[in-house]
Amino acid sequence: MKDQNQPEWRAKQIMDWLYVKRVQSFENMSNLPKKLRDQLADSFELNPLQVITVQKSKDGTIKFLYGLTDRHAIETVIMRHNYGISVCVTTQVGCRIGCTFCASTLGGLKRNLSSGEIVAQVIMAQKYLDETSDERIRSVVIMGSGEPFENYEATMDFIRRINDKQGLNIGQRHLTVSTSGVVPNIYRFADENWQVGLAISLHAPNQELRSNLMPINRRYPLSDLLKACWYYLHKTGRRLTFEYALIGGKNDQDEQAHELGKLLKEMNCLVNLIPVNYVPERDFVRTPKSQIFKFKRILESYGVNTTIRREQGHDIDAACGQLRAKHNEKINQE
Ligand code: SF4
Repeated sequence: MKDQNQPEWRAKQIMDWLYVKRVQSFENMSNLPKKLRDQLADSFELNPLQVITVQKSKDGTIKFLYGLTDRHAIETVIMRHNYGISVCVTTQVGCRIGCTFCASTLGGLKRNLSSGEIVAQVIMAQKYLDETSDERIRSVVIMGSGEPFENYEATMDFIRRINDKQGLNIGQRHLTVSTSGVVPNIYRFADENWQVGLAISLHAPNQELRSNLMPINRRYPLSDLLKACWYYLHKTGRRLTFEYALIGGKNDQDEQAHELGKLLKEMNCLVNLIPVNYVPERDFVRTPKSQIFKFKRILESYGVNTTIRREQGHDIDAACGQLRAKHNEKINQE
């Protein structure tokens, strides 16, 4: 508030209006002097996101397509779990990483989101819940479109802001950030000394296959990625999660399960198996259920904790980037 020549406690009042009362206009901040409300309205954007579409699944998953002030669109998802409600936020418009199983990367990277645009996704999701129920967001996963570690500063600022006691006060242990393997920023993140969870999108147990599925593996090879993972484990004492999307016939065979088990057996980690969503633009088939369970059993035979991600939002555009891709198609036709 120093920039506006205001006392420090004004910042607390504004935080309260933004994060607790969640007003949509500076004019509604009734305990601020009129002059200050006008100054704030002239200097800041309070509503960086506008709802374009809301899709609701029978299982309670809700997917939002938000328009940004520059006409780009992003997705945010509310998911229901037995431990409460979580929100999956997006950190970039599009993505340049190029994972072959992902719809978000098809049009490349358009731009980074600001921390305010990432925070607004959580506020908007909570506002939606306020209007329809008395449910509270319990956890946030930074796993939507984009590579958070390629938008590192904004992502860290986002974490600070929603963790703030005067902000949404979501505990660090209820936050998880996911990276495709931007190795230098895994070291940086480990050195933040936070209790925020880290998930690594692994998706293959060896260099060759991983490079085929995820081009980033040519920039940061698997061996370097694993070294960074060990650093994180030693530095934080926390458990790591490895995301492994099962793609029929590509990375879901017994041989790959054994290879993965050997690779991770010494690590304090959890492998989350994700039956891959069908992406029309990519010619991938789903792994049969019996093979998913077999893959899990093989990993467990190496002592590797393994879960299978429950599918959510199967009846809506569940895969990350699908809703936005449809929206972009429509805009291009107009
Ligand atoms: S999976 Fe994540 S990192 Fe990979 S292309 Fe998609 S959005 Fe980018």
